[in-house]
Amino acid sequence: MPIPVSSDPSARASRLLALEPPRERSAPAGHAHGAPEPVVHRYPIPTDRIDPDAARVVRRLVRHGFDAYLVGGGVRDLLLDRRPKDFDIATSARPHQVRALFRNCRVIGRRFRLAHILFAAGKVIEVATFRRDPGAEALAEESREIAPEEARLQRRGEAVDLLIRNDNVFGEPHEDAVRRDFTINGLFYDIGRGEVLDYVGGMDDLERRVVRTIGDPDVRFREDPVRILRAIKFAARLDFGIEPELYDAMVAHRGELEKAARPRLLEEVLRLLRGGASHRSFWICWETGMLGVFLPELSVFLDDDPPEASLVWKRLQALDRRIADGDAPADAVMLCALVLGPIEEALEGARDVAEAFDDDASATLERLAVPRRMRDRMKQIVAALPRLRRGRGGALARRDFYDDAMALWSLDAEARGQTAEPPRVALAPVDDASPQGPSDEPPRFGRRGRRRRPQGT
Ligand code: ATP
Ligand code: MG
Repeated sequence: MPIPVSSDPSARASRLLALEPPRERSAPAGHAHGAPEPVVHRYPIPTDRIDPDAARVVRRLVRHGFDAYLVGGGVRDLLLDRRPKDFDIATSARPHQVRALFRNCRVIGRRFRLAHILFAAGKVIEVATFRRDPGAEALAEESREIAPEEARLQRRGEAVDLLIRNDNVFGEPHEDAVRRDFTINGLFYDIGRGEVLDYVGGMDDLERRVVRTIGDPDVRFREDPVRILRAIKFAARLDFGIEPELYDAMVAHRGELEKAARPRLLEEVLRLLRGGASHRSFWICWETGMLGVFLPELSVFLDDDPPEASLVWKRLQALDRRIADGDAPADAVMLCALVLGPIEEALEGARDVAEAFDDDASATLERLAVPRRMRDRMKQIVAALPRLRRGRGGALARRDFYDDAMALWSLDAEARGQTAEPPRVALAPVDDASPQGPSDEPPRFGRRGRRRRPQGT
């Protein structure tokens, strides 16, 4: 059933967003002749809501004659009165020109170079030159590391610029707007003028609280199926409706998620978990059949509806509450909270939990290419759970995975409706190497028989 979208056309005039009626803007300097004009909404945003470093970067670019705007999720969140996670900037300046203006600047990326401007406490402001749609192939390229010979070229600004021009990726502001995924992510904010430049109808969709692709959803999902997960992320996190045509395209193209690069898939899954609406996000993934593509074991587990299935949802609800309280657990803990059901099922009866985890349980994670370190941490904290549940985790208190194990235990306990009394903690030194600790019997996962495995695994 499509997710309902409330659209009341009479409410579309400036109720939420614009302070005065939008107007067509006269072409800003640098716009190509005949390029589409944005609809401009006057919308001064109080300066204290904008990161001062991002504002400084924009102002300096503009002072040197370039166009520069805040773009993407930062603008969307500002307009929704949410606190942006980060502030990205799009500009007419080429990467080497950005670098020439900022000493604390590093140019990254291979074919599509981005400038990262570094500030105190690890803060990075990303400055990208306007570009046109790079296509799916280029998205994969982007995540690769810079090649050594190009790193050499990069030190000679001119040569790099030529290389990129030959690659034909830089573009005009309107091209940069339409290459983006959803209308609500395609808005530009002009800090100096206090104006939103809208080439894609994003203001209307923000007002109507609806996720809509820029352009034909079938085409956009075929270009990059990870956008399907991104649509779910925004709908769930912002509590927006999904435009029906987009919903149908999500279902139609879900199988193409298999083609997506696994690290990108993992990153989006982690973002769904971190977003504070993981319950709603994964519910939509399950309902649309998407979960069967990237977490087939979890999907089958839920389809089979064992008594533990409801715990999956309750753990995610507990996770969402943690995140609302500003108490986000580590990625490994969140991923465990999601897949604990099928993992524990795979571990049933196992004496050597570590081995069983590697042999059976980690199949659950195969399609996400979870990095080794995260998988090892997951193994440790899942192995610690039986002991913590019995209130006998004290011996683990000095292990480096203890906090993560406790975080998982508390999500699980909350899901099971247990009072969140922490297990006894004995601060005796621990010198054994096993995750179980020295004194208790090794954990043994109860044997309840195996569930059928998803086809094709
Ligand atoms: P979040 O709040 O989760 O960071 P975001 O919208 O900022 O959400 P990012 O992944 O940080 O998302 O990307 C920044 C911007 O880049 C997006 O707002 C969007 O305009 C564009 N973008 C990101 N991923 C894609 C994609 N797969 N296809 C097209 N545009 C994309
Ligand atoms: Mg972002």
